[in-house]
Amino acid sequence: VTATSQRLIDADLFTAPPDPPRLVGSRCPACGAVTFPRQQGCPRCNGDGMETITLGERGTLWTFTTQEYPLKEPYRLSPGATFEPFVLGYVELPDGVMVETRISESDPARLRIGMAMELEIVPLYTDGDGTEVLTFAFAPARES
Ligand SMILES: [Zn+2]
Repeated sequence: VTATSQRLIDADLFTAPPDPPRLVGSRCPACGAVTFPRQQGCPRCNGDGMETITLGERGTLWTFTTQEYPLKEPYRLSPGATFEPFVLGYVELPDGVMVETRISESDPARLRIGMAMELEIVPLYTDGDGTEVLTFAFAPARES
């Protein structure tokens, strides 16, 4: 199947090319609490004036686990594809938020807690009509 178009699995969660890939969160102007995903109300002070912000694209691997069986929706497989185990983890961003995320590196032996990670936008599956569905993931940061 050749992808004829692309869409984001959830346009509220992240930005994608041609924009720089960033997660979209919110910040409370009253107390400074930062959330991902966006929230209407502040989980810390109950304020309701949360501002939309883009979060940093780099973070630190907090913990990870191998997902050995298919997840519920919205995780899907391309037509005809078979499930492959993948790595799920938590990445701590400098903004002070912990993000549950797919990890692009599928070999847990190449991961270690505390390593630098960076955001990327990756194809998750292909819809029946050939639309490639994109999601966000974190990969070990390239040496800079
Ligand atoms: Zn607050």
